Amino acid sequence: MEYEPVIGLEVHVQLRTRSKMFCGCAADYQTAGPNTRVCPVCMAMPGVLPVINRRAVEFTIMAGLALNCSISETTKFDRKNYGYPDLMKGYQISQFDLPIAYDGYMDLAPSETVPGGHRVGITRIHLEEDVARLTHVGTGRGGYSLMDINRAGVPLMETVSEPDIRSAEQAEAYILELQSTMRYLGISTANMEEGSFRCDANVSIRPKGSDELRTRVEVKNMNRVRAVVRAIEYEIDRQTRMAEAGERLEQETRGWDDDNGVTLSQRSKEEANDYRYFPEPDLPPLYIDRALVEEIRASIPELAGSRRVRFETEYGLSSYDAKLLTARRETADYFESVVLSRDHSGDAIRAFAKEAANWINGELARLHNSSNGLDSDLADTRVKPAQLATLVELFQTRAISNNAAKQVLADMFVTGRDPEDVVDEKKLRKVDDSESLLPVIDAVIDENPKAVDDYLSGKETAIRFLLGQVMKATRGAADANTASQMIAERLETVRKA
Ligand code: ADP
Ligand code: MG
Ligand code: ZN
Repeated sequence: MEYEPVIGLEVHVQLRTRSKMFCGCAADYQTAGPNTRVCPVCMAMPGVLPVINRRAVEFTIMAGLALNCSISETTKFDRKNYGYPDLMKGYQISQFDLPIAYDGYMDLAPSETVPGGHRVGITRIHLEEDVARLTHVGTGRGGYSLMDINRAGVPLMETVSEPDIRSAEQAEAYILELQSTMRYLGISTANMEEGSFRCDANVSIRPKGSDELRTRVEVKNMNRVRAVVRAIEYEIDRQTRMAEAGERLEQETRGWDDDNGVTLSQRSKEEANDYRYFPEPDLPPLYIDRALVEEIRASIPELAGSRRVRFETEYGLSSYDAKLLTARRETADYFESVVLSRDHSGDAIRAFAKEAANWINGELARLHNSSNGLDSDLADTRVKPAQLATLVELFQTRAISNNAAKQVLADMFVTGRDPEDVVDEKKLRKVDDSESLLPVIDAVIDENPKAVDDYLSGKETAIRFLLGQVMKATRGAADANTASQMIAERLETVRKA
């Protein structure tokens, strides 16, 4: 019997609002000292009243529209009851039967790992609040837990997918696309390591071709995209082996153990919480005005997928370059500002864009990543788009060599100077007129009698050494073709002399 995996993902993202979900405390819980972003509401004092954060609702509507959802006209909040020390109220304010957004989908673009592309249904997107952070110190009798309430009440938006995902690779593509969308919309940092993007995976298997939904397990505790992929692969494998051995799968929650590469049982169905949802009596229902929905729809920027396609067709970029450039909105914006700072069109814009893409994805990315870390964006680089455009032109018109262009960019990256100024100061403009090259070549020939002898006795490769010396003397500014031709001519006159 052949089996196929059935996967549905639940993703929580923290929203980038200034204040928390139901109180006025600042939501910057990560940089603030422990328990400095707290008030009676998020500390769960009795008798306090929550107030809905408008921004968080707008962000959720925006996410819903970006994921092709319908937006509820009437929505409300509910209490989800459970007991755990990170939840001081004894319930979490969430949304049960009337989420803000529902019935959408995400199209995964065709790729090597997702051939032909794939559509994943979005069941719902709703709003809730994050819980306090517990740090466990030691175990047993001497053990204790520290509690930081800063995170309690930070807006959390949950996106639930339909069980439409059929492989770990599709799950990965879905997560990356969702991450990119949240970042393009500017509504979340969507960073798994920081905990602003968390993903639980529901996994089951069924006979290939069947459309039934069988018993599933929910896997938690993955804090990198790679971990989600490995956990799903592990579960598919484990469940398939169980099915082949005739064992019955139990519905349960399992945790991913990254060190050992396995999932471990955490809670069975019998131990599962009964959340006893009921409407939050302290908050009024929300009626979402259609005019607001349209206003938000109009503010949605072009997302990574369509931007990538446009970069390929409009600027003739390779899909590789287009993918790199659109991975982050800031990089894509930067690239486009570079290109649009010149009024090229047709073939010229394509040639210019291709060269600009090379410099942004290559040398600029290298400089940027090594000084700012991999996960930062280009938005705040000292090299202004128009300045990079000038550098690209200097290189494109062969006014400076590749090596010189790299030196110039390294300087611009630190100082923010104009490329022409750096080129002039460092005398990097390519020298290809014989008048300026001749004295340099003569000096090199004078200073390297051994290489000259080698050449004259038939070792033609010696010319490469001499060329290297000329390049060194001109700090890379000499035009290599012109210079090597001139060296050869010069050596012939030496031979005749
Ligand atoms: P819960 O509220 O208990 O987490 P839901 O019914 O809301 O359960 O489903 C949560 C997630 O599980 C959704 O992403 C859904 O697509 C997925 N899911 C539901 N049934 C299955 C199944 N049989 N196999 C895999 N995933 C499933
Ligand atoms: Mg769940
Ligand atoms: Zn508060």
